[in-house]
Amino acid sequence: MTPLFDGLAAFCRGRDSRQFSIEEATRDYLSRIEREDPELGAFLSTNSNAVNRARQLDNRMARNPAPSPFYGYPVAIKDNLHVAGLPTTCASRMLANFRPLENATVVERLLQSGAIVLGKTNMDEFAMGSSTENSAMGVTRNPWDLRRVPGGSSGGSAVAVAADLAPMALGSDTGGSIRQPAAFCGVLGLKPTYGRISRYGLVAFSSSLDQIGPFARRAEDALQMMLLLSGPDGRDMTVASRDPAEMERDFRADVRGKVIGLPEEFFGDGLDPDVRASLDRAREVLSGEGAVFRPIRLPSAQYGINVYYLIATSEAASNLSRYDGVRYGYRSLKSKNIRDMYTHTRQEGFGPEVKRRILLGTFALSAGYQDQYYRKAQQVQSLIREEFDRAFHEVDMIFAPTTPTPPFLFGEKVSDPLAMYLSDIYTISANLAGLPALSAPSWPTPSGLPVGVQLIGPAWSEGRLLRSAAILEEAVGIRRPSVGTTRGGEAA
Ligand code: GLN
Repeated sequence: MTPLFDGLAAFCRGRDSRQFSIEEATRDYLSRIEREDPELGAFLSTNSNAVNRARQLDNRMARNPAPSPFYGYPVAIKDNLHVAGLPTTCASRMLANFRPLENATVVERLLQSGAIVLGKTNMDEFAMGSSTENSAMGVTRNPWDLRRVPGGSSGGSAVAVAADLAPMALGSDTGGSIRQPAAFCGVLGLKPTYGRISRYGLVAFSSSLDQIGPFARRAEDALQMMLLLSGPDGRDMTVASRDPAEMERDFRADVRGKVIGLPEEFFGDGLDPDVRASLDRAREVLSGEGAVFRPIRLPSAQYGINVYYLIATSEAASNLSRYDGVRYGYRSLKSKNIRDMYTHTRQEGFGPEVKRRILLGTFALSAGYQDQYYRKAQQVQSLIREEFDRAFHEVDMIFAPTTPTPPFLFGEKVSDPLAMYLSDIYTISANLAGLPALSAPSWPTPSGLPVGVQLIGPAWSEGRLLRSAAILEEAVGIRRPSVGTTRGGEAA
């Protein structure tokens, strides 16, 4: 069964013409979640107040027209973003019973515009992972093939949108956690420019890299979400005072004559032939619209993974030191003294990948090693940034695969951390350079698995990237996995 509406514009038309009430739309999504999610595992919690809120919004709309496109619009939120009244678990035992008192700024902006939170979505524990297999709360399955992972760390948000359990969702992206699951699930995912959106109320992983961004089916919807969420916030001083309206202007502009760079390093041996073939078709579409492709070099991008696993783990080791059993979350009851309590709490509260990261980061920052590791990583990070800067003197955006392969099988990489880390090889450099990047659906592989095209732009070029995504969307069409008992494959 298809949802009551398809896309934000259709939602607004249906709502304003009273084709359906906000309550009906909300109930429709909640019942989809109830029906489909036991199999998919996208949600960790649902909002028991959603229907009440919908009713209130309907009542208010009986007197006044809807004040915002998002008025009554249902959304899903990754479980590392605070929604007051719902748990924030980060899919960790450490926060299994944690309830925030405040909303994240992005959630606050959604609620003020009248949006309805459907629930919180599954993820890799503390956003560390690329398959959602690191969740302490259970698996999330890829709706295109239930034997495969949805990607991660925002796997639940990607699946929620791909399987029509929510029309849009929010995720976070530190090294690829929005783009990679978007590619694996066949939806659009955007990581904004560092400093575009407030992270207040996002549980910090690596603060110099983390960004919040949308999952959507349509580029236009992602743009509207970006316009709503962007801009300064007194509670996150890293947000720039950049006019969001520029994104809308760029989105309306043509791609004719735009120069698109093809980085040689992103099309090397490690790239799956089916992904490559799909990308070739996508490239033809943009050429057909008048974009001009040109080869470029990003030689330092190959060090991205090394740099990332020093910087991100160092920051994570520091950010996660707050989980001590005193101030937040889980506390082990085994302990005889305070030292013992810290040890047991962290031993029992964190999963293996989180522990690995804390150990790596603590080592990298330990006395005598800082210059060798952390400082070195920062130097290479500067090189990566400079190479992108140079490239953007010649090209307007960069075209690349989002992932080297289509979605992989459960268990395929989870016992080999390096293999798992390599699945982010194409996404990480945009985080290290602070640049906006998105993954848009391309044509699926011959066996029907989703493929993502990644577009990376200079800072503040989200509108331009979304324009190209809209062109691809038109060519590829909106594809949906078949739902119900015969999952896998495409809906009729
Ligand atoms: N997969 C990467 C990691 O494991 C990126 C995660 C993210 O972007 N949050 O760290």
